[in-house]
Amino acid sequence: MAEETIFSKIIRQEIATPLLYQDELVSAFRDIYPKAPCHILIVPNKLIPTINDVKEEDELTLGRMITVAKKLAAAEGIAEDGYRLIFNCNNDGGQEVYHIHMHLVGGHALGPMLSK
Ligand code: 5GP
Repeated sequence: MAEETIFSKIIRQEIATPLLYQDELVSAFRDIYPKAPCHILIVPNKLIPTINDVKEEDELTLGRMITVAKKLAAAEGIAEDGYRLIFNCNNDGGQEVYHIHMHLVGGHALGPMLSK
């Protein structure tokens, strides 16, 4: 059984992080340490620790994460200029919170995709 993270508490609104979006499958809220003018996390309500744990039955949820990202990018006014969607997986991917989340980052030019 995977261990819950802080994200489950945010999803259940047990801690005071404002939700930008929530439906029966996914939730979205701002990253606590934004790496760009717009930095939003879109997460499944259900705990899936890493992308390695995604199952076929999660495809609707994963698809919903993309459509919610698109809507939030438009609402944030960054859709036309552009943005980046990122999943980090495990240690080499730089994953810190083991409840999958898609980073929606934008608001300025982000530069090359990878840097060390
Ligand atoms: P990862 O490296 O796992 O892909 O990204 C985890 C992200 O979650 C980081 O960008 C980090 O700033 C963010 N984060 C960690 N703890 C919290 C929290 O308690 N609240 C919010 N809003 N974001 C968090």
